[in-house]
Amino acid sequence: MSKLFKNIFTFLLAVGNAYAQLPRPLVNYPLGLSPVFDQGFFSGTASPPYTVQQWAPGKAPQACVNELAWNNCISGRAVVYNITYNDCNKPWVMCRCENADLSINQMANFFGRMPVHLRSVVRHVMATHQDGCSAYAITGPDDGDIVMQGNCNTQSVWLHETGHQLDARGLGTGVGFSTSQIFTDALWNDTCVADDYGNTAPWEEFAQMTVVSQSHAIYGYIQQQQYPGCFDYQLAALENAFKLSYLTYGGTCTTRIPPTPPVNAVWKRGVSRRGVKRVGPCKFDHLVTTHTHKH
Ligand SMILES: [Zn+2]
Repeated sequence: MSKLFKNIFTFLLAVGNAYAQLPRPLVNYPLGLSPVFDQGFFSGTASPPYTVQQWAPGKAPQACVNELAWNNCISGRAVVYNITYNDCNKPWVMCRCENADLSINQMANFFGRMPVHLRSVVRHVMATHQDGCSAYAITGPDDGDIVMQGNCNTQSVWLHETGHQLDARGLGTGVGFSTSQIFTDALWNDTCVADDYGNTAPWEEFAQMTVVSQSHAIYGYIQQQQYPGCFDYQLAALENAFKLSYLTYGGTCTTRIPPTPPVNAVWKRGVSRRGVKRVGPCKFDHLVTTHTHKH
């Protein structure tokens, strides 16, 4: 076999294995992650202080125009902000549709509760209106955005979506960690997945394990496991690869993705979606709201 064909063959085998491994028979958290971890994220983390600078109407980043239009935000209703945390001198440009369920301070606060180097795998943060909460990540090499659809007011959802960006960008090779041999082997060696949602795809399991790993980094142990130790290979694989570089507090924002250029924030109805890679919409059951942000 030529080297090229051998590589393609190996790749197909790896992808085939990844799919073949799910679903697994055991889940460690039958009600999902929110009831177990969100209270701990609320009491164990804080956003650094930040400033909010709203853009003048009429312009928005290109990526925000694309996604807000696709999410049925009415043309002209994009609201754009520079959010500058005191641990990074470059702002994150966040966009809301005017009727989004999350306020800009909720967005800045949930996002800010993550370590600054983990925040740095995200380019734009967006919020739109929807009943309930779903969310997705845009993970292509020229992207890096997360979109909250509806009232996604739990930290576990924010960590899950950022986990999709960590998956796509963490290795810096253009190859997702969740489809790498290291994670695929770990998944195979483990006897469970995190929860039912993690059982739907390796990248969803990776995103859920990002939530678990962040709690592990904060508290030093794993809460309320149905089958203690049953996902330890995955946990170790994720943390060996990313704990120091992304999941511990402290760090720097030197690896930021530049925001997309400002364009006119008007669009036509029925705009077609760009052919970029989106992961989701991710659906979350049993979300437990632990708090409200008052500003
Ligand atoms: Zn997801």
